[in-house]
Amino acid sequence: MAIRILSGDITKQHVDAIVNAANSSLLGGGGVDGAIHRAGGPAILAECRELRRSRYGKGLPTGQAAATTAGRLDAHWVIHTVGPVYSPDEDRSALLASCYRESLALADRLGADSIAFPAVSAGVYGWPAASAAEIAVGTVRATDTNVADIRFVLFTDDVLAAFQHALG
Ligand code: ADP
Repeated sequence: MAIRILSGDITKQHVDAIVNAANSSLLGGGGVDGAIHRAGGPAILAECRELRRSRYGKGLPTGQAAATTAGRLDAHWVIHTVGPVYSPDEDRSALLASCYRESLALADRLGADSIAFPAVSAGVYGWPAASAAEIAVGTVRATDTNVADIRFVLFTDDVLAAFQHALG
């Protein structure tokens, strides 16, 4: 397994699976979620609506992951995962770790060989970059997976630096 830290827009990645930091509605949002739906086109949203109808009537729970195809993206699947909103009063790091673990487990079930992760929860959901990066890198390192090519694709310099530090 190779873990790499890259700078840039995750929608430009050529990988088997692109992970989306979705919200539980699965109906789109801002940040990386908006970018993925804009670049991937309406097929992704149509499949998200179908997931809501068939399996996740109350929404995709925090810490879980669900896959759709990737529309126009240069990927086979989008894996939607819902990160926890950061709380200074409550330790939600197990839920953030679960996003990475469940995304990799789903990627394994799909047969993906390569995956690109954004910094889940590190945007609108307010997770401090250093902690988000440690949880992300630590969880991926500790997860037994057949995915050989794992990339973190970071959009801002502070988050990029935090991930580089966490990877060592
Ligand atoms: P969350 O609600 O889980 O915090 P956000 O989308 O607000 O999700 O932010 C998650 C991270 O994704 C942030 O670090 C943000 O800068 C980053 N981001 C936003 N757009 C992109 C993109 N096109 N590619 C990669 N990362 C992105």
